[in-house]
Amino acid sequence: MRRIGNPDRIVIIGGGISGLSSAFYLQREAERRGRELEITIVDSAPVFGGKINTLQRDGFVIEKGPDSFLARKLAIIDLATELGLEDELTTTNPGAKKTYILHQRKLFPMPAGLVLGIPTEIAPFVKTGLLSWGGKLRALMDLVLPVRKEQTDESLGGFLERRVGNQVMRRIAEPLLAGIYAGDLKKLSLQATFPQFAASERKHGSLIRGMQHNRKAVAAAGALPVVAKGGTFLTFKGGLSTLVNALDRALSKTERRLGTKVVEIKRNTDRSPRENSDDLSAEAQARYEIMLDSGEILHADRIVMTAPAYNAAELLEPLTDCSELRAINYVSVANVVLAFDKATFGIDFDGSGFVVPRSEGLHITACTWTSNKWLHTSPSDKVLLRCYVGRSGDEESVKLPDAELIKAVRRDIEETMGIKAEPAFVEITRLPRSMPQYPVGHVTNMKQLRDRFEQELPGVWITGAAFDGVGLPDCIRQGKEAAQAIFKD
Ligand code: FAD
Repeated sequence: MRRIGNPDRIVIIGGGISGLSSAFYLQREAERRGRELEITIVDSAPVFGGKINTLQRDGFVIEKGPDSFLARKLAIIDLATELGLEDELTTTNPGAKKTYILHQRKLFPMPAGLVLGIPTEIAPFVKTGLLSWGGKLRALMDLVLPVRKEQTDESLGGFLERRVGNQVMRRIAEPLLAGIYAGDLKKLSLQATFPQFAASERKHGSLIRGMQHNRKAVAAAGALPVVAKGGTFLTFKGGLSTLVNALDRALSKTERRLGTKVVEIKRNTDRSPRENSDDLSAEAQARYEIMLDSGEILHADRIVMTAPAYNAAELLEPLTDCSELRAINYVSVANVVLAFDKATFGIDFDGSGFVVPRSEGLHITACTWTSNKWLHTSPSDKVLLRCYVGRSGDEESVKLPDAELIKAVRRDIEETMGIKAEPAFVEITRLPRSMPQYPVGHVTNMKQLRDRFEQELPGVWITGAAFDGVGLPDCIRQGKEAAQAIFKD
């Protein structure tokens, strides 16, 4: 990174977790190197956080977007540690380990040993009532089926169907993985979502054997920090906004423009190289001009683009081809949180919730028994449920008016769990076009896009959930990588 005279000006578009992490690691790297940076984060929303949005209401901690993260993906734990938040982390209730899958309107416990929907313990898998004997035998054929020769990407659904059969794919894997992508597995890229599945097939000749091996390897490594050993998922006691607020505080030196949208990016092609241009104003030297809907123009040497792919494409298409970004479809989802008084609820939960395969034909795709899964979320005399609505190919429910949506969700929870109690309150959150669907070929597409940007849009780094991983830890890792890439220039 060049620094002659003036500090480098970096504009980060998007103040979600990807943009905030990029800013945090850029600032930290600059301090470490004794460099001066002027960082500005722009977000059209009035507050930082993007999809992360915690609501505190009547003693409940309600997540309106993401609610937790995978403990084994360490980027988020590292960041929390750097922000002094280790003591704020909490894990799931050890007494709520069971997860259920709905099948023909009955809740079946997820068979022990299932990892990302793939059986790694044969005995419990063979005993489950979720699959027919034919379905179980078909899944176990994975142990003897030949390995695919081509190394090219394929769909996640196609891969699972090929290895473990349609029943495991539709009845177990798809509803379980819907929590991450709300996707149609037949349209998602294997390489971009679960490359470890393809690696298992190649290395072990079988998905089941590969996943068994991975599970043992993770257990044997024991390399996780103490805080990550408590459970598969972690969150913050005060909700995920704890992380956003801590980043906001840590970025006190970062300029911010909130509640204002970037509407255009212009490239300053007749810019003179900065080192020979003492007579030029800082504005004239900048590589890019960023127009905000407030009328303000920001000048930037570098841009970190973390907006969803469709927003990024709108802004960057006038400057270069963005067809790879346009190929990323987004699914709309909603969640409906219902709070109850325990005294009138009438049911005790012994697990963390259940997922719903498409074939069940319900509005809800899953239901988390939040107050049982996460003990910090509710007063002890209350019950909190979170129901999920919307998935690829089934997004109509998200658009239902509030009253109809609540009615549909209450009908589903009565039918599946017999819940008739009147909720004390209901919180609805709609997240239109919020879940990126990485298409087959996504990894190659993104490399191609980045190569083109390097040639045609020097100084523009694109990252975030649309790019290389949708989970919060993946977004943080990408923010860190953005900072490293910028300092490598
Ligand atoms: P965003 O949070 O989308 O931030 C992008 C920002 O760009 C937005 O704030 C937007 O306002 C801004 N923007 C867009 N266009 C412009 C413009 N023109 N000008 C200025 N600003 C602009 N992950 C997990 O790990 N665990 C979970 O439990 C989990 N649950 C999820 C549940 C739901 C319902 C959803 C939708 C996602 C969930 N995820 C979860 C995924 C994770 O929350 C997201 O992938 C992540 O928060 C995305 O962060 P980001 O910063 O990349 O994007």
